[in-house]
Amino acid sequence: MLDLLRFPRVALCHRPTPLEPMHRLTEYLGGPNFWIKRDDCTGLATGGNKTRKLEFLMGEALSANADIVVTQGAVQSNHVRQTAAAAARCGLDCHGLLERRVPGAASFYETTGNVFLDRMFGATLEFRESGLDMNAEAGAAAEKLRAAGRRPYVIPGGGSNETGALGYALCARELAVQAEENGIRIDWIVLGTGSTGTQAGLVAGLCAMNANIPVMGISVRQKRDAQVKAVHALAEKTAAKIGAAGVPLSKVLVDDGYVGEGYGVPADSTLDAIMLAARMEGVLLDPVYSGKGFAGMLGLTRSGFFDAGCNVVFLHTGGSAALFAYEDILSGAMTAQNQAHSWKAS
Ligand SMILES: *Cc1c(COP(=O)(O)O)cnc(C)c1O
Repeated sequence: MLDLLRFPRVALCHRPTPLEPMHRLTEYLGGPNFWIKRDDCTGLATGGNKTRKLEFLMGEALSANADIVVTQGAVQSNHVRQTAAAAARCGLDCHGLLERRVPGAASFYETTGNVFLDRMFGATLEFRESGLDMNAEAGAAAEKLRAAGRRPYVIPGGGSNETGALGYALCARELAVQAEENGIRIDWIVLGTGSTGTQAGLVAGLCAMNANIPVMGISVRQKRDAQVKAVHALAEKTAAKIGAAGVPLSKVLVDDGYVGEGYGVPADSTLDAIMLAARMEGVLLDPVYSGKGFAGMLGLTRSGFFDAGCNVVFLHTGGSAALFAYEDILSGAMTAQNQAHSWKAS
């Protein structure tokens, strides 16, 4: 069924991550039943979804006898932060290329949050202006390192290839076991989707297990059709890698209604979601990914998308390290929320 033991892998993840009920949110919205899969607690460098991908990617890097990993992302990339930590843990160097993808960012955007942690883990960094082919940039950086006698292993943006996606095929199995332990049927999984590896791996894993659980990806960046196409392409490659049958296109669901102005720019709905999760469940979301994903789940709920009484699992993909890079925007949102709401139990 799902034999992933034959792929090289490094143990980096605290697993299983908890599957917890969100009682207060469920009551506040009047159902359905909300659950949260705590992949913000994967344990590597403040956690997040890249840990599961990096188990397989670093496994491959070590098998290839690499001495440095090269990767790329946006300036406040969680992926680069977690890769830097994984490399430190494996005794490899890490070189990260950071794209200035977010316009109008605060002055401290390039020094705080994830960038601060990248440096903490000893990564070397280069910045790039937006709009370049960043995977090509990373390839060129690796070539330079090779010419200088190093043995680079290149990890694509977000760790999203069929190797990284194996981590989420494995997570699909973990969720199926937890559903059984909790005596529940999971009716929906909702998550923020960006570089696609998380959704693609989940969908491939679920298909391989013949588990008929729909996964709704809330796009953080691009239009629905482009995201569906990208997720589906990687889900197919991942399914092929694990020896499963193809993934029907109809299994890839994306909602692009919560992107706002674009990648890395929180919409009002993002800020509302972050405040709601913090004050109602004590959960930290982030302004780039999980805040948009959670906003999508709230929006779908309010529009009556989910049947009453069904079980909706929010896959919390992490990202809280980026909160500090958005302190100015979030402080403003907090002031507004303080004036508008009280979510204390009555
Ligand atoms: C990378 C990331 C995502 C998106 O996952 P993809 O596999 O790139 O689609 C979601 N949430 C957080 C916090 C991330 O860092």
